[in-house]
Amino acid sequence: MKLCELTAHELSERLTSGEVSAVEVAEAVFERIDDVEESIDAFLALTRDEALEQARQVDDWRAGGEKLGPLAGVPIAIKDVLCTKGVTTTCASRILDGFRPPYDATTVRRCRDAGMPMLGKTNMDEFAMGSSTENSAYKVTRNPWDLDRVPGGSSGGSAAAVAAGEAPLALGSDTGGSIRQPAALCGISGLKPTYGRVSRYGLIAYASSLDQVGPLARDVRDCALAMNVLAGKDPHDATSAEVEVPDYVEGLTGEVSDLRAGVPRELMGEGIDPEVKIVVEAAIGQLEELGMAVDEVEMPHMDYSLPVYYLIAPAEAASNLARYDGVRYGHRTKEPVEDVYDLFAKSRGEGFGPEVRLRIMLGTFALSAGYYDAYYLKAQKVRTLIKRDFDAAFENHDVLLSPTSPTIAFGIGEKADDPLQMKLADICTIPVNLAGIPALSIPCGMAESMPVGLQIMGRPFEEDVIMRVGDAYQQATDWHTQRPEL
Ligand code: GLN
Repeated sequence: MKLCELTAHELSERLTSGEVSAVEVAEAVFERIDDVEESIDAFLALTRDEALEQARQVDDWRAGGEKLGPLAGVPIAIKDVLCTKGVTTTCASRILDGFRPPYDATTVRRCRDAGMPMLGKTNMDEFAMGSSTENSAYKVTRNPWDLDRVPGGSSGGSAAAVAAGEAPLALGSDTGGSIRQPAALCGISGLKPTYGRVSRYGLIAYASSLDQVGPLARDVRDCALAMNVLAGKDPHDATSAEVEVPDYVEGLTGEVSDLRAGVPRELMGEGIDPEVKIVVEAAIGQLEELGMAVDEVEMPHMDYSLPVYYLIAPAEAASNLARYDGVRYGHRTKEPVEDVYDLFAKSRGEGFGPEVRLRIMLGTFALSAGYYDAYYLKAQKVRTLIKRDFDAAFENHDVLLSPTSPTIAFGIGEKADDPLQMKLADICTIPVNLAGIPALSIPCGMAESMPVGLQIMGRPFEEDVIMRVGDAYQQATDWHTQRPEL
């Protein structure tokens, strides 16, 4: 097998044994990028010189007998929503064209400290708003399994890069499904950690009460390795939690017979493509064969998730995006302006794309005097009811199972003009963010020759449990080893 096709843990073994050097790994991955990036368009920027320099450094350390972590020398791609010191960070928006952050996001810093060479910045929906990566102001990323289809979104560049062999690992962010849905559509594994598990410092905010950073990888073991680097309290992020971090790799015992799973009826019914449903039901059957107890659960408030999310997320976004004013940084209009308000309006009007403008207007409306109680406040109350549905389900279930996405990857342009259809792509993933719990997506079969994802949801801070389930499934099956032909 070629180096660019290996998982991070396979690379790690070869690097620690001295069979390959970090420079050889980085060169092999860039060679693959040179071969396929033209047809995938996963990256907004490549940081080749920096990556090779980091790899050289790791090789020197290793030669000097230094004790290095398991991911030292394993390269990683970073979603362009994360600040990278001195490296352009645009959030796929014109308003941040050419912005070079003066600091690293904590997650990026942790990867650097772990000796992981940064390959580049990956494409995404502008400000992480979308489910197809078509909302990027710069380019359209293609699904490696079928170049006429979307890779999902908003972390579509990260997912496509991992699936296409252009990166063994990638970072993404997930506000309503943006790690799990593209992972599912591209046939890879992706984890959204518990809210507070991973630092948001340096993550460009979309909706601050929902956003989390997490890994996209070729298998669950790699997600666990990445979580050992990413998880933990960060003094720079007051919402990061002071909860002990277990060794996630050690937790992968392959044993699931002590666990009980629930299947929420509301996430398996209307709106789920029948072919996707058949594949997911078969996967749930396989988990039962591995010894897991499975039964159906009712979660009556799930149906409100989408409307609740589309009030809370745009409200928070409208507030977070107020900082892009064309004065302090980012795009500033070149048109003549009458006064400072005119400068704001013209800069923002030119800098933000249509989906972002729409959400700023929605959010501003939901928060405005007279409407706040009727919309935003009510949405917050229903959010609590959704959270309580999960609390009740987790009283007698260790994990919950559902499809990750109701459909396989759709065609480029197919849903671009149908905002409701696009938003329905997240019906299974959004409730998880509203409740703040962790969830994993793993490939579990194919429909119409395209990958289907199984979502495994867990109690707060029980990433170890959901990864144990996902890894046990992968030890018994080989969907995660399938690669697209390119
Ligand atoms: N697709 C959802 C949205 O557009 C979720 C995106 C995300 O998780 N960042 O808001």
